[in-house]
Amino acid sequence: MANIPLVDLKAQYLSIQDEVQAAIGHILDTTRFVGGKPLTDFEEAFATYQNTAHCVGVGSGTSALMMALAALGIGPGDEVLCPTHTFIASIASIKHVGAEPVFVDIDPATYNIDPALLEERITGNTKAIMPVHLYGQMADMTAIMAIAEKHNLKVIEDAAQAHGAAWDGRRAGEFGDVACFSFYPGKNLGAYGEGGAVVTDDAALADLLLKMRDHGRINKYEHDMFAFNERLHTLQAAILNVKLAHLDEWNDRRRHWANVYDELLTGVPGVVTPTVAEQAVHVYHIYCIRVPGDRDAIRQALNDAGIGAGIHYPINVHLQPAMQGYARGDYPHSEEAAATILSLPIYAELTQEQVETVVETLKRVLQPAVS
Ligand SMILES: *Cc1c(COP(=O)(O)O)cnc(C)c1O
Repeated sequence: MANIPLVDLKAQYLSIQDEVQAAIGHILDTTRFVGGKPLTDFEEAFATYQNTAHCVGVGSGTSALMMALAALGIGPGDEVLCPTHTFIASIASIKHVGAEPVFVDIDPATYNIDPALLEERITGNTKAIMPVHLYGQMADMTAIMAIAEKHNLKVIEDAAQAHGAAWDGRRAGEFGDVACFSFYPGKNLGAYGEGGAVVTDDAALADLLLKMRDHGRINKYEHDMFAFNERLHTLQAAILNVKLAHLDEWNDRRRHWANVYDELLTGVPGVVTPTVAEQAVHVYHIYCIRVPGDRDAIRQALNDAGIGAGIHYPINVHLQPAMQGYARGDYPHSEEAAATILSLPIYAELTQEQVETVVETLKRVLQPAVS
């Protein structure tokens, strides 16, 4: 039986073990666990990597989104346009600031929010758009920014799956007011625990976020707002700084394996491989295909054969038990995607043999041998 997980954190760790242990050892020696140079070093490096002026490290991707919304003044009574085909955290952040998510269907080819459907959802209460750069491919930021400018809307990019991705030669954070990242361990740039960041070119916004993550402090004992304790841990920042130096190489490897999958899956009946927009540099956080027939049974058969196939995500946010007021059929492209998608193992350290095993097993599962 195969043993190919959806993502292999151990393989990656083994490739950078010495560097990571040295970075952690340094923090342990200094016993400076909060703030300090390793944190600001990482923030500077990540801002540079995303081609933005500022980076504020925070406790998680969810906190990054929530604090960015709050810092942009979005709250009760405000509406935020967003996809429903996303991880629930995108929408939870909107709920946490008291605003209302207003869902927009996806482009079924790229799985990203369809800009052609944005304007019909705009009301007098619409304050912002939250595109999610799903699976590692950026949404159509050219069209989204044109609509945002026309209607004077803020843009919060959910870039939790898109470290290093580009649209028309620019990275997340170069388009919107802010881009928010997650450093959850399985993300393309992952910490060894929780972490997140907001990048922006707006110095005043970055200052506000620095204050918000640190109890609203204006000096040691004075606080001019009730805020949060959402600082990125220094240990995590040190680990992330080691890993950031490898990110382009890892993203290149992910693209390589995605291309191999694309080739091996060409002509397999009913299988739809990812569509990459001409303007996009995809970083394949997820390699998502569509499969014909009983998707859940196909996934189970792959799992039984030792292949870590996953689903990102099987239930649209508008149909989650936490969400009221929506019905099946409201967002047909999102619902169709949720019912047919399948994520195959993708990470830099895959081998040709493993990718071939995944594809051979999938073909066997899709077309059981005639006995
Ligand atoms: C991972 C993720 C988040 C949340 O990030 P956390 O660090 O887990 O809080 C938000 N949005 C998307 C699209 C994600 O994939």
